[in-house]
Amino acid sequence: MQAVKRGVVEFRAQVLQVKEETPTTKTLVFDISGVDFDFLPGQYVMLKVPYPPTGEELRRAYSIASSPLQKDRLELTVKRMENGKASVVLTTQTKEGDIFTIKGPYGKFVWTEDMSDEVVLLGAGSGVVPLMCILRYIRDKGLSNVRATLLVSYTSYEEIIYRDELFELNKLPNVNIRITLTRSWPENWNGYTGRINPSMIEREVKDLSKPLYYLCGPPAFVETMKEHLRSLGVEKDKIKTEKYG
Ligand SMILES: Cc1cc2nc3c(=O)[nH]c(=O)nc-3n(C[C@H](O)[C@H](O)[C@H](O)COP(=O)(O)OP(=O)(O)OC[C@H]3O[C@@H](n4cnc5c(N)ncnc54)[C@H](O)[C@@H]3O)c2cc1C
Repeated sequence: MQAVKRGVVEFRAQVLQVKEETPTTKTLVFDISGVDFDFLPGQYVMLKVPYPPTGEELRRAYSIASSPLQKDRLELTVKRMENGKASVVLTTQTKEGDIFTIKGPYGKFVWTEDMSDEVVLLGAGSGVVPLMCILRYIRDKGLSNVRATLLVSYTSYEEIIYRDELFELNKLPNVNIRITLTRSWPENWNGYTGRINPSMIEREVKDLSKPLYYLCGPPAFVETMKEHLRSLGVEKDKIKTEKYG
């Protein structure tokens, strides 16, 4: 897939399924069969969200979770924000059959196989979404020559978004998934604990100078990860970032 610019389109799409990922996070599966919509792994869309308390129509950015190879479905994964507006509507009131207006694709936070044969994906919480899109693309396209490492932090085991699929992805010989839990973890947890730090990155990435790095999550997380990578000698132009919020 070439990293060419795709045209932005606006369309209406019906919710086919609402999947519960964690107690605070849901994936909305939209029917986009019949819609001419192309995007690159890592891009996002703008979603119009009616907000009943005020009658407003909110516009919010959501990264695309599903692979671009999946042409008939588009998946967005939304984490409920404490006192948020759109995220509360999307995770507590949205149901099968609801119709939304979607516009996109947008964004330069993109990875395609012509860009590198190694990627390191660093995420926190819902920041995993575009990173999952990249991993699903690598898996579904059978890019077994591409080495991918995902190092992702969540607050607790219950809050691990895409838990089962991440464990499955980790079985692929070219994919390395490492999860760290920051607030609480089960007694038998054998992953990392605490925030992502330079020694975790050093341990998981053999040759730090080789991969492209994709950082996604809250602004403070992205800035800290950038500092960690710079302290490990990673060049600026190898780091791509997407900040939520
Ligand atoms: C490129 C991009 C991609 C994104 N992708 C995703 C994704 O895949 N999944 C996802 O879940 N999110 C994603 N986001 C975030 C998403 O766009 C929304 O910002 C998020 O869902 C919160 O929207 P909201 O309307 O619920 O919150 P808002 O109502 O906009 O509030 C956001 C936060 O600010 C706080 N707040 C609101 N008003 C005030 C106030 N007056 N004073 C103090 N604090 C206040 C709220 O408590 C809340 O925590 C993405 C953002 C960007 C920029």
